[in-house]
Amino acid sequence: MTEQPRLLLVEDEPGLRLTLSDRLRSEGYTVESAANGDDGFRVASQGGFDVLILDVMLPGKNGFDICRDLRQKGDATPILMLTARGQTVDKVMGLKIGADDYLTKPFETPELLARLEALRRRGGGPVTGPTYKFDDVRVDFRSTEVWHGEEQLQLSAKEFQLLKYFIEHRNETLSREVLLHEVWGYESTPSTRTVDVHVAWLRQKVEEDPKKPKLVLTVHGLGYKFVG
Ligand code: CA
Repeated sequence: MTEQPRLLLVEDEPGLRLTLSDRLRSEGYTVESAANGDDGFRVASQGGFDVLILDVMLPGKNGFDICRDLRQKGDATPILMLTARGQTVDKVMGLKIGADDYLTKPFETPELLARLEALRRRGGGPVTGPTYKFDDVRVDFRSTEVWHGEEQLQLSAKEFQLLKYFIEHRNETLSREVLLHEVWGYESTPSTRTVDVHVAWLRQKVEEDPKKPKLVLTVHGLGYKFVG
């Protein structure tokens, strides 16, 4: 991502909105902000953001409503929610409706920046909706379940993340290094062989004939390409 990432901040506390916007701009973000939930939802719906920061308690539509309604429209933009201290119930609820991460107020700005960076790295391109279908396979990004017809496939967390990344970058040739960096990230897996092993496992689960893959293709000398 070489362009300036676009960020929408929906926060009703004027002080926090201003200081945060300034700080994010100085970190290279193009920042738009909204002071209430209705404006926030309207601006978010126009799309084109790389990441959204939603305060939970807002006048008008609250942060949860915005998140839920965006996800229902199939908008998969990464969302970081800001919750007040001790709102653990809120946290669980937010995860269910499709938020990607949380930060409890008050927070340190470097912590926020780190979370945003992680979200953007994880985010990839927009997915077509909360579920994705190819062949007889249905992937539910919210429940992280994968179904083959009526049968639920048992994918490990890494296999799911790998599949998700493939779907988000379908028809792109992805090198082992890119997959390792994007899917495994800082877990510092030593070898790109790890990618091959996980691709093989994933093929066992989603391919009709894992020996003759039709979904996760090998691009010789380059890497893999998902064409589902
Ligand atoms: Ca608030």
